[in-house]
Amino acid sequence: MTLQTENKPIVSLPWMGKEYIEYLGEALTRIGVNVQLPPRTTGKTIQIGVRNTAEMVCFPLKPTLGNFVEALDNGADTLLMFDSKGQCRLRHYWKIQEFILKNMGYTFKMYNVNFGNILGILKKLSGASYFKILKETVHFYRRVREIDKVKQQWATDRPNIGIIGEMFTCCDEKINYEIENKITRLGAKPVNTVTLSSFIKSDFLKKIHWPTKKRRFDKEAEKYFNGGLGGHGKENISNLLELVDNNIGGVIHLLPMSCMPETSIEPYVNAICRDSNTPLLRIPIDENTAEANLETRLETFVELIKMRGEK
Ligand code: SF4
Repeated sequence: MTLQTENKPIVSLPWMGKEYIEYLGEALTRIGVNVQLPPRTTGKTIQIGVRNTAEMVCFPLKPTLGNFVEALDNGADTLLMFDSKGQCRLRHYWKIQEFILKNMGYTFKMYNVNFGNILGILKKLSGASYFKILKETVHFYRRVREIDKVKQQWATDRPNIGIIGEMFTCCDEKINYEIENKITRLGAKPVNTVTLSSFIKSDFLKKIHWPTKKRRFDKEAEKYFNGGLGGHGKENISNLLELVDNNIGGVIHLLPMSCMPETSIEPYVNAICRDSNTPLLRIPIDENTAEANLETRLETFVELIKMRGEK
């Protein structure tokens, strides 16, 4: 039996890519969760986060905190935050956000969602059966895979530029200044390796159907690490090895300022690109990033790759 709408909590979650979160909102609504997405991230959203967090904290905490403030201001009373249960700060985001928001005077219920508890939480919030929740989860995953297929396709008529880096920065077009569209407009094909479906596949489905070649790159990437690093540091090295093996035209490394895993892998990324003669552009992003500066660097980078291709 589903809960009556008027008794249902008003549930919100932060943005991480327009299509992903809109699809997720639709899926949650279909199972009966009373979802209210926050307004799309703007400069104002980011400033709310900047004002209420530590200056040097990794950047995604700021816009996501801003999303929560705007959601609560719009009437939400229940927040969902992903809990990676991993090794970097992401596993603590929800706790830090809950603490800050309560100190700001908001009253709400925070759920830290992970692959182990998500079904139970959704059942509680929707009243739907596990069967219905699972059905919608599969449907959502299939839709995300469709988006990601396009993101990861290689072009045959123009240079391909691989994107590796931190997930939030690579997935949210408001945070990365629509970098994929910018690359396309400059006449190249972005090949974004950091997508939601690859994350679900590598972290949750435990690499089911991972092709043998992919396993080889994963194994190769392992050699760079002394155990777990957190975030997607290892996955990025594996993806980078695959990109250069396939002769990618160039690589963009997108990362938020103070991101522990991504700054840790910088020397490896530099060396792999140098040794394979692959042009590399690193773009660190935070609240001080100037779009015009990013555009100029990107334009020069794409031109360089085009010139190399012509030669
Ligand atoms: S992956 Fe990087 S940006 Fe994301 S939570 Fe971890 S340290 Fe912060």
